[in-house]
Amino acid sequence: MKILLHTCCAPCSTYVIDKLRKDGYEDITSYWYNINIHPFMEYKARLEALKTYTEMVNVPLIIDHDYGIREFTKSVINDIDGRCRFCYVSRLAKTVKYAKENGYDAFTTTLLVSPYQNHEMIIEIAEELAKQYDIKFIYQDFREGYRIGQQMARDAGIYMQKYCGCIYSEEDRYRKQIGGLV
Ligand code: SF4
Repeated sequence: MKILLHTCCAPCSTYVIDKLRKDGYEDITSYWYNINIHPFMEYKARLEALKTYTEMVNVPLIIDHDYGIREFTKSVINDIDGRCRFCYVSRLAKTVKYAKENGYDAFTTTLLVSPYQNHEMIIEIAEELAKQYDIKFIYQDFREGYRIGQQMARDAGIYMQKYCGCIYSEEDRYRKQIGGLV
């Protein structure tokens, strides 16, 4: 079975790739499309880390290069607190479309490994897209391997980010320090 793995970042892909392989899925391709990652140097650092890691573990990588700060911020500006839905839909829809147009049998996402993401919302969106495009969504609760995956990333020496991705999540991450500066 040919699987397209939407990949949010290298650290989150470590456990997921390993687990899929252990479950017998050998034909995995990593797919990068993440218009939510800002600013640009952070986007670049995460993409470079993924290039390095996919080479290390011998997984093909498809890069849909779109630094999407303008599209992303325009799309969420009227509902910043509800931005994650747009974030998941935009990335997964692009993944599913690519999978369908390029002969993949199924898709899944590394977003399912993080206990910090809205797991239920991701499932709901992925199932809806699977129905819409008539393609299989491989669901697993990869969260059980989150800590293992983070350790795998540390051992591999790859870049590990400090916040989710968008500029608003960067603000959330450093809110206390920002407060201390004013
Ligand atoms: S917090 Fe994370 S999931 Fe939510 S919109 Fe920002 S980057 Fe996307």
